[in-house]
Amino acid sequence: MSWEFSTEPEFGEQLAWMREFVDETIAPLETLDLDDDAFRTAIAPLQREVKARGLWAAHLDPELGGQGFGQVKLGLMHEVIGRSRLAPYVFGNQPPDSGNSEILARFGSSEQKERYLFPLLAGTMRSAYAMTEPDAGADPTLLTTAAVQDGADWVLDGRKWFITNASVADFFIVMAVTDPDAQPHWRASQFLVPAGTAGLSVERELGSMEDPRPRPDRLDNHAEMTLAGVRVPGGAMLGERGAGFSIAQSRLGPGRIHHCMRWVGQAQRALDMLCERALYRFSHGSVLAEKQTVQNWIAESWAELNALRLMTLQAAWVIDTHGVRAATTHISAIKFWGAGVLHDVIDRALQAHGSLGYSSDLPLEDMYRRARAARIYDGPDEVHRQAVARRVLRGYAAPGDHRPTELAPARRIQAERLVAELSQPLQHGGGDRGGARRR
Ligand SMILES: Cc1cc2nc3c(=O)[nH]c(=O)nc-3n(C[C@H](O)[C@H](O)[C@H](O)COP(=O)(O)OP(=O)(O)OC[C@H]3O[C@@H](n4cnc5c(N)ncnc54)[C@H](O)[C@@H]3O)c2cc1C
Repeated sequence: MSWEFSTEPEFGEQLAWMREFVDETIAPLETLDLDDDAFRTAIAPLQREVKARGLWAAHLDPELGGQGFGQVKLGLMHEVIGRSRLAPYVFGNQPPDSGNSEILARFGSSEQKERYLFPLLAGTMRSAYAMTEPDAGADPTLLTTAAVQDGADWVLDGRKWFITNASVADFFIVMAVTDPDAQPHWRASQFLVPAGTAGLSVERELGSMEDPRPRPDRLDNHAEMTLAGVRVPGGAMLGERGAGFSIAQSRLGPGRIHHCMRWVGQAQRALDMLCERALYRFSHGSVLAEKQTVQNWIAESWAELNALRLMTLQAAWVIDTHGVRAATTHISAIKFWGAGVLHDVIDRALQAHGSLGYSSDLPLEDMYRRARAARIYDGPDEVHRQAVARRVLRGYAAPGDHRPTELAPARRIQAERLVAELSQPLQHGGGDRGGARRR
């Protein structure tokens, strides 16, 4: 048996380099209001540096230009990358492109890889993932966007909502119902649709807490779009017909580890700011660090962050050693737990900074607004809580007599019997010692 919490020295050195690079070179870019082109130009030399260090698109296997690190190492990398919202672009693993490249690598045909995956990895194409609809989000079995076969083609009709990068994407992965009469989770398939295909239109950019008045055609915007008679060839289907949901699940599994570790990094940055503030801000006779409330904030944040970090790394370890399916409960648990920790730690740091924290002279207000979304995307927290509870409950059965296993009067009778037996000469055996009614 071994429990290992250390990082191998060589990889530790890479992480240390990344930490400095993210904090000193990438994070300052957050303060500039760059448009899409200027941002691409600014990060191009930084991307080259990352590539030279062998850290580019590390979520993919080596034959695709990744590192084949496995989820634990990737998790540790994402913890550092998560400190700045811009760092994923510099390291070639920004959502939704990273998740899209993973499913293209796993389920794409060689033509699809050639046309979409390799340019995506090279950074010459961008993508969007179009699943959510105005009337179907948390429960994707309610999707209505339809794909109907017409000769060798498929024709797609429907409406999609909150699609990140829709206005700048070169292609879309669209989830559409191909088999309405199949079992609910086998009704949909995924299609690769190039931007500009007739009938596909981005209706409007959506204002949100990230950006109430989004500028058009900007990276990270979210948009509403329609598909009206969008015709694609049969070869545009990604993976098997009807396998849309299982592909979506495989896209989200490891992706949630990366999200959660990025949240650890974001929350750690907030905690760094909280601690710094506590040590210099003087109020009512002492620095904030001497107020018990602020000490509680620091202690709670530290403990919650460490719990999240360990839970997430454990989930990563389960994926690496037993596969994604074995980690399902862990993955759901870190999703809702992590979103809460992210929110609470940033909230405390913002509060400790008072009006300065609320102002955009610090990154905290931006971090706070973005953190709120974490409780909604990748499945709302409530759905993940429900999933965890259901799976935990599978390990139990109701007592046949509808009386709690631990009921004291019954236990007492059991204990008295046991004591009586034990006080007899040794010829008697153990007897029934009960035990929790766990399956
Ligand atoms: C920043 C951001 C980026 C996004 N990017 C994309 C993208 O690129 N592509 C894409 O396809 N989608 C994207 N989405 C959409 C996202 O996937 C959905 O918002 C999410 O699946 C929830 O769906 P909904 O918003 O329709 O909420 P609804 O389905 O309307 O749910 C609303 C609320 O109902 C409650 N609820 C729902 N089900 C249950 C349940 N079983 N038990 C208890 N409570 C429940 C929850 O509180 C939930 O928040 C993005 C969303 C955000 C916020």
